[in-house]
Amino acid sequence: MRPLLFLLLFFCSLSQAAEQPLAIVIHGGAGTIDKGAMTPEREQAYRDKLRQALDAGFAVLEDGGTSLDAVTEAITLLENSPLFNAGRGAVYTYDGHHELDASIMDGRTRQAGAVAGVRRVENPIRLARLVMEQSPFVMLSGAGAEAFAESQGLRLVDNHLFDSEHRYRQLQRAKERLERQRGEDYRAAVEGLPSPLRMGTVGAVALDKFGNLAAGTSTGGMTAKRYGRIGDSPVIGAGTFADNSSCAVSATGHGEYFIRYNVAADICARVGYLGKSVVQAADEVVHRVLQRAGGTGGVIVLDAAGNFAMVFNTEGMYRASRTSAQPARVAIFE
Ligand code: ASP
Repeated sequence: MRPLLFLLLFFCSLSQAAEQPLAIVIHGGAGTIDKGAMTPEREQAYRDKLRQALDAGFAVLEDGGTSLDAVTEAITLLENSPLFNAGRGAVYTYDGHHELDASIMDGRTRQAGAVAGVRRVENPIRLARLVMEQSPFVMLSGAGAEAFAESQGLRLVDNHLFDSEHRYRQLQRAKERLERQRGEDYRAAVEGLPSPLRMGTVGAVALDKFGNLAAGTSTGGMTAKRYGRIGDSPVIGAGTFADNSSCAVSATGHGEYFIRYNVAADICARVGYLGKSVVQAADEVVHRVLQRAGGTGGVIVLDAAGNFAMVFNTEGMYRASRTSAQPARVAIFE
């Protein structure tokens, strides 16, 4: 009798494990992706890095790790790549520095951590996670966030670590353009900048074997940003949101719109309160609410059943997905 019971229990737990889907979806920014400048080599480099981050995150999930670990792992890899506007590839502020924003949220507890305007932290997503797990706060900014990083044993780096030729050229182009339009409404001038100069944030959403969702986002913000400007990426509900009972979202795009339209939380509210699918909810917010307001960008969305959406109202969005039911897919354009 005993061996039979053990066998039964063994198969029950096996089938439970088989039923719990695992999923990870990542993005590397949305915007007008200059097809002219996109050589086959460059496109391949983007695809390879997205695939590497996706696989690293999925491996964490397959090894029984949490969705928070998978999100942190995938975003850290993208932050370490000069291709994306986060960490090493961060854009320049108007004054020629780099100021990084990031956030992470746990769908199980609705705990969240965020950092804004940090200049000397190599992996802002890791600091956001420490804020969530090791402090009683949700968001820390600037020098205070860096002091907290040091207190947690993170090594501070020189801001020049984030320097790169191509981002510097982007800053020069943006400044020339802003200078030419001097006297005009600053907001209109910034909005008139071509979106490659403004976009390129990274983010991830994941679902683990415990059925828990997590979301995270990291960015250098927008080229030529001024006056300590903070975008949507570290704002919970705007650029990042996660709640097991609705969905997990990471956004990318013109942050001011994502903040004003509370984009990530709005998508999850539609899922939670109106029973919309993640695809419907993301479509409504990105193509109707945001687009009508003039906001450009995109989102990745995932629910606790492993359904996901990757929706954008721009020409392209660097993105990739992998679930236990669907193989890895990497895409850039529509
Ligand atoms: N959302 C980011 C910001 O406004 C930029 C981006 O996603 O490209 O800071």
